[in-house]
Order: sequence, then structure tokens, then C-alpha cells
Amino acid sequence: MTSLTRGAVPEDGWVVLDTRQQKEIHIEKESRSVTVQPGVKFREVQVALAAVGLYYPPGPTEEEASFGGMISCNAAGAATFKYGQTRPWVKRIEVVLANGEILDIRRGQCKARDGHFILENANGAERRIDVPTYKMPDVPKSSAGYYAEPDMDLIDLFIGSEGTLGVITKATLDAIPMPSIHWALVACPNEQKALDVNQRLRELSLETREKRKGGDINPRVIDISAIEYVDAPSMRVLREDGQSKRGITPPLEAKTMLIIQVEKADGDTSEELGLRLLSEVEKYGLSEGFQFAPPDNTGQIKYLTDMRKAVPDGVNRRVKENQVTKMAGDFIVPMDKVKEMLEFARKTCEDLDLDLYIWGHSSDGNFHPNIVAKTPEDAELAKRALFEIGKKVIELGGSPIAEHGVGRNKTKQALLKLLYTPAEIGQMRQVKRALDPEGKLAPGNIFAMSEG
Ligand SMILES: Cc1cc2nc3c(=O)[nH]c(=O)nc-3n(C[C@H](O)[C@H](O)[C@H](O)COP(=O)(O)OP(=O)(O)OC[C@H]3O[C@@H](n4cnc5c(N)ncnc54)[C@H](O)[C@@H]3O)c2cc1C
Repeated sequence: MTSLTRGAVPEDGWVVLDTRQQKEIHIEKESRSVTVQPGVKFREVQVALAAVGLYYPPGPTEEEASFGGMISCNAAGAATFKYGQTRPWVKRIEVVLANGEILDIRRGQCKARDGHFILENANGAERRIDVPTYKMPDVPKSSAGYYAEPDMDLIDLFIGSEGTLGVITKATLDAIPMPSIHWALVACPNEQKALDVNQRLRELSLETREKRKGGDINPRVIDISAIEYVDAPSMRVLREDGQSKRGITPPLEAKTMLIIQVEKADGDTSEELGLRLLSEVEKYGLSEGFQFAPPDNTGQIKYLTDMRKAVPDGVNRRVKENQVTKMAGDFIVPMDKVKEMLEFARKTCEDLDLDLYIWGHSSDGNFHPNIVAKTPEDAELAKRALFEIGKKVIELGGSPIAEHGVGRNKTKQALLKLLYTPAEIGQMRQVKRALDPEGKLAPGNIFAMSEG
């Protein structure tokens, strides 16, 4: 329950629906699925699944996020590269509409026909929902407005709809056998080296998956599920805080770094996997500072995950202490455009004399530029920079709202208006009107109901 995009922050006279007591978890081990109530947190499901050898892969970095929020934002996270966003993992949801009707939607049971859905209620009354005709950005994740594609499944309309179309009261999700996740750290001298290694490891992993599809069972492969990138300014924050506050100090060699999750196949060994990864990293001259942690090295894994979390914590604390504005982006671009996007972001912030910290899920080309004003008076400049970067992301074929949703964040709503035309946002309004004609649910989330 983070309300990162202000999507669940009430205004005067509004009613907040608190789902924290809706905490039931039911695991079906045989069918590898888990049914949750909306107040269940990501961390709680992972713990319950682990107890029976299962795992839910597409969770956000924030483990306190609730399943109601994760499904409503179509959350993703570090492992999108291997496992995608929340959407394909949701098999069934129970949704309460604004008029109190309850829908029980199973994936595959209700598809759009001729560009629309017809829903019939218990009294035989019909409501028509027209599927928007816009094309969504062709990138592995986007949480920017309603999902739309011809012949789409009704369940997908509610996933990612940020509470505007109905309240999710139950969901059944797929799980997988617990993978053998090993962690690694690659200390890099600069951004380019980090991006080169990121690209190489992606390519090797995509090759592995292709070969597996062709029936190759060689266990001695590289199969990355996630790569997290931390840039040089963020590393300086870590180093300062490591010395003064948290004691989480990155390796001396690291000017930038990658934190990697790699999965070991049955028949492989941790030692051999570590050596294979190291030999790839050595090709870039980066063996100094390399770290590798098998699943039972919980201490080292905690050091790596804590270090990743310490990056936003450190930046946010400075913002608070200095009472300045921070604008945080959530961008994804096609992989061949990553370098151009990062260079543009740095130039934009340099020109406007703003501080910029970048981290994120580099295995997907999904980055979080955090733009920090130097003085309280520079707040508007930070907003302008975020907007300019968002525009560039769209030009490059990406999405300026990759995984956190739009909510009632004004800049994100403005970016949505760049991503889609007024007519296309009008199609989203039509969907909203069809399901919630009085605009009772999550008012103002994603878009304003009035045009303009
Ligand atoms: C430090 C940090 C790291 C993060 N990392 C990631 C990440 O890696 N990937 C990622 O995708 N996100 C990330 N997030 C964002 C956030 O955690 C996720 O988007 C998460 O999915 C939202 O869940 P929540 O419980 O915080 O939802 P909330 O913020 O409580 O709600 C989000 C939206 O969902 C709606 N909603 C909530 N419950 C329901 C329900 N039952 N029915 C209908 N609508 C509902 C709300 O109205 C609101 O609009 C991060 C956030 C933080 C603070």
C-alpha cells in the first residue's frame, strides 16, 4: 500500500476502502496457483508459496505492495525480462462494479467480439463496453491507461485499470516451482560498460530460452531473470551513506553497478554457474569486485537487496533534508534506444542545472530517472525536465509510464496525453462511463472525466 502515484489518496468527502483486513491466501499446490484477497501483501504470498516450494515471479521491488494494488497497476518489477508483467499471471478475478454487481471473470471465458463486450447482469439487462482502438507501446511493460487490443479478454480490462472500473475482491494467480535464484554484483567503471554487460547477459539468456524451446536440455547455460542498474550519482549516495549511516558500502571498484538474478538449472552447480558468469564479466575486464551468492547465502543476498533499496532511500532522504522537489520517472524504451534515452536525460538535467539519479530494471530498458531540484525555487524546472524526458521516451517508441501506473499524478496524466490522442483518451472515458457512469470509483485516476 504505497500510493506512489496518489491513486489511493482521498480528497475531502471521499470514502477510502481499506482492504488491509482482507488477507486470505489459499494455495493449490497441484495446479500451482494461489488465490488471494486484495489486502494480501506481495511478501506474504512469497513466504506462503516458498513453504510449499512455489514462487510468484512478477512482483514489484516494494514487497509491502498489496495484490489489489499490484493487479490494479499491472505491476512488474525486476524480473519482467523473464516473466513479464502481472497481467498474464492473473487467471481469475472477482470484481465488484460501482453499482454493486459482482463479476467473476476467468481468463479465456469472455473475449471481445467485433470491438466490444456485452455484459449481461442477473436481471438480463445488458451493458456494452467498446474496446479502445489505440495501439499500445511495443515494449515489455506499460501501465499507461486501459489495456486494449482487438479480441481482448475481459479480465485484461480490469488489470491495470487503477481502481477506476471496479474493486478487485479476489484473484487467482499462477505460480511456478521455486527457481534456484543466484545473485551477483558486477562493479563497472562507467555507464557504458554496465550497459554492454547488461546487453551481453540479455543476449545469452535469450539464446538459452530459444535453445530450450528447441528441446536443448543442456543445464550449463546462463539464464538471467533480472538485472538492476545503479548509476554513478546514485553510487556516490550509497558510498556517502555507507560510511555515515547504513554501513552498506558498495565495492570500491564500482562507479556504477549491476545487481543480477540468475537461475540455475537442475543438473548445473552453483560453482560452475558462478564461474560461467564471471568468465562473461571478465571479457569486459570487470572481474574485480565481482560477487556471487547462491540461494543459501542469505547474508550476502540481503546485503545486495539492502544496497539496492538504500539507493532510493538515500536520495529521498536528501530531498527531504534539503526541502527540495524530486520528480521521479518510470520510463521504458526499446533496448536499442536505451543509450540515447539516458544521454538525453543527462543532457536535459545538465542544461537545467538539476541533479539526476538513475536506477532501475535495466534488463527491460526500464529506468527510474529521479530528478532533484537544487533549490526549493527550482521545482518547476524538475517538472519540465521530467516532461521533456517523457516526450523523448515516446518519440523513441517507449512508454513514459512503465510499471507504477498514472494515478492522479499531474505530470503522468500530462504524459498520458502525449502518448495517446485526445480521441484515444476519450475512448478510455467511454469505457469508464460504461462501467461506472456516475464516476464513483477512484475519481480522477488515470484521466480527468471532463475533457481538456
Ligand atoms: C520503493 C518502491 C518500489 C517500487 N517498485 C516497484 C516495482 O519494481 N515495480 C512496480 O510495478 N511497482 C513498484 N512500485 C510501485 C507500487 O508498489 C506498485 O505499483 C504496486 O503494485 C501498488 O500496490 P500498492 O499496494 O502500493 O497499491 P496502492 O498504491 O494502495 O494502490 C494503487 C492503485 O490501485 C488501486 N487499488 C488498490 N487496491 C485495489 C483493489 N482491491 N481493487 C481495485 N483497485 C485497487 C488504488 O485505487 C490505486 O489507484 C514501487 C513503489 C515503491 C514505494
